[in-house]
Amino acid sequence: MIQLKQIEKSYRTDTIETLALNRINLSVFQGEFLSIMGPSGCGKSTLLNIMGLLDAPTKGEVLIDGRLTTHLSDKQLAHFRNQTIGFIFQSFHLINDLRVLDNVELPLLYRKVSASERVQLAKEALTKVGLSNRMKHFPSQLSGGQKQRVAIARAIVGRPQIILADEPTGNLDSAMGNEIMDLLLHLNATEGTTIVMVTHDETMAKKTHRLVRLFDGAQVNDHTLKQVYA
Ligand code: ADP
Ligand code: ADP
Repeated sequence: MIQLKQIEKSYRTDTIETLALNRINLSVFQGEFLSIMGPSGCGKSTLLNIMGLLDAPTKGEVLIDGRLTTHLSDKQLAHFRNQTIGFIFQSFHLINDLRVLDNVELPLLYRKVSASERVQLAKEALTKVGLSNRMKHFPSQLSGGQKQRVAIARAIVGRPQIILADEPTGNLDSAMGNEIMDLLLHLNATEGTTIVMVTHDETMAKKTHRLVRLFDGAQVNDHTLKQVYA
């Protein structure tokens, strides 16, 4: 589903060059829930951004469903990303002056989906995350856990095959964090959505299928924790 081959990423600022990722080889399988752990600055976000085609590697290849993405134009990449991948971030990234329902509809605006169908799909996504009673609220009227539920609804509204989550529970207390984790586990189990999650929380990581550890831009460990049942 997602294949990274010999990925390197370096950042250059004036005189300093940082090797953020060093020869990463990683395959994420369909239906898998993979967690990525490692100390701050080890390259986790960079890796997720490269998987999500938000950022290009300096060297190496990213294949999605066997399709090489290296030579796609920015426009083709944006289209492909919109069709295939949903993103969730630690700080939610909701638009504060849009109501919950409008936030969730956003990914569909880039597709040829009619207004009535957008509303219908956004309502379905909000129902899946247990927020059908908050559609007319603004993000500022919600708790942190509810904001992350809205972000998850927005990530799944276009029925992506892949969800990439960068510390989705990092800004939440443990009770709300557990709720969000249960929701992601449920989506993975019931819809078969492939999920890659960066986390600092070992107990969250242990609930997933597989745990990859990074250190200084390199992969140091790859543990299967559970089998994936397709
Ligand atoms: P993590 O998510 O594990 O904390 P990151 O992927 O954010 O790590 O960063 C990996 C390394 O790359 C760090 O040393 C960081 O300082 C560097 N880095 C990340 N983004 C940039 C950037 N845009 N410009 C320069 N250096 C960067
Ligand atoms: P928590 O107890 O999880 O921290 P809050 O105390 O922030 O959550 O919110 C409790 C409930 O009140 C939530 O369901 C939220 O939707 C609602 N709520 C919070 N602030 C507002 C507001 N300004 N206007 C309308 N509803 C609100």
